[in-house]
Amino acid sequence: MTVLLLDDGTEVSRQALTLARKFGEPRSIAADSFQPFAPDALATAIAAMDWTAAFAAATDRGNDVLARVAARLGLPFAANCIAAEPGDPVAVTRLRWGGSLLEEALLHSPRPIITVAPHAVSPDNGPSPAPITVDSPDYRQLGAHVVEHVEPSNGGVALAEAKVIVSGGRGVGSKEGFSIIEELAGLLGAAVGCSRAVTSAGWRPHSDQVGQTGTKVSPDVYIACGISGATQHMAGLKGAKRILAINSDPQAPLMLNADFTVTGDLKEIVPAISAEIRKRR
Ligand SMILES: Cc1cc2nc3c(=O)[nH]c(=O)nc-3n(C[C@H](O)[C@H](O)[C@H](O)COP(=O)(O)OP(=O)(O)OC[C@H]3O[C@@H](n4cnc5c(N)ncnc54)[C@H](O)[C@@H]3O)c2cc1C
Repeated sequence: MTVLLLDDGTEVSRQALTLARKFGEPRSIAADSFQPFAPDALATAIAAMDWTAAFAAATDRGNDVLARVAARLGLPFAANCIAAEPGDPVAVTRLRWGGSLLEEALLHSPRPIITVAPHAVSPDNGPSPAPITVDSPDYRQLGAHVVEHVEPSNGGVALAEAKVIVSGGRGVGSKEGFSIIEELAGLLGAAVGCSRAVTSAGWRPHSDQVGQTGTKVSPDVYIACGISGATQHMAGLKGAKRILAINSDPQAPLMLNADFTVTGDLKEIVPAISAEIRKRR
């Protein structure tokens, strides 16, 4: 029984492999098999392959491609799973409602299609599965044509997998104000995140947004600068191991839920942290 693993090169793909192995002999297909990334083309190729179950990381790419595979085959799709047991039906546990709810569900499908939530399953340290290579189909026949590929603005560190995130909220004050957030992130090798107030104002792209309608993150450290901590923002933070909040309001919900807090003006505190890091290097 061949189990297909869509490998997007992230640590989460190794976590998805742990669950995939329960369902049979995994073989992997690279998410970047087609350049530039072409989810429709990849989904077409995968839908035509012979496999009994398909797994991927619940990253943007994993969910994008496997949702298309499920749609093409008319099969159900279980996204953001943290557990899956083979059987008829397959038993899955999924993260729902921004991670605030664990759903136990039964997947009635002859060919389960599952993505695995980041950092909820131990990564597989066994041998890598045998790769499957695919011939590039004609994109024009698929009705999709890649015109431009734009790299994310966060310096190449993907938000969902970042170990450290420096995140800014409305308190940052402006698009230009994010230069001090970017500077600190650069010194720490961190990704830049933000709240929805920031994306709504057009200061940062939606790909940087953390929360219920943004990215769910699970860093070792989340540094929240000028973010109040609305429930919709906190929904994206459930996986964060440590939170440092910088806010002028000591009663802000994020300050009350943080492991470490600094009360004051972020425009003074953030540059001071960066200066201290530079001094110690
Ligand atoms: C359906 C729905 C989905 C949503 N999804 C999301 C989501 O995914 N992610 C998300 O973030 N929000 C989401 N929201 C919006 C959410 O409810 C809040 O409005 C938003 O998170 C507030 O952003 P903020 O904390 O940056 O702004 P504010 O709530 O305005 O907080 C700004 C904070 O900055 C502090 N501050 C101001 N100036 C300074 C300074 N100079 N120094 C230090 N601190 C300062 C203030 O004390 C305050 O605590 C959603 C809302 C809805 C209705």
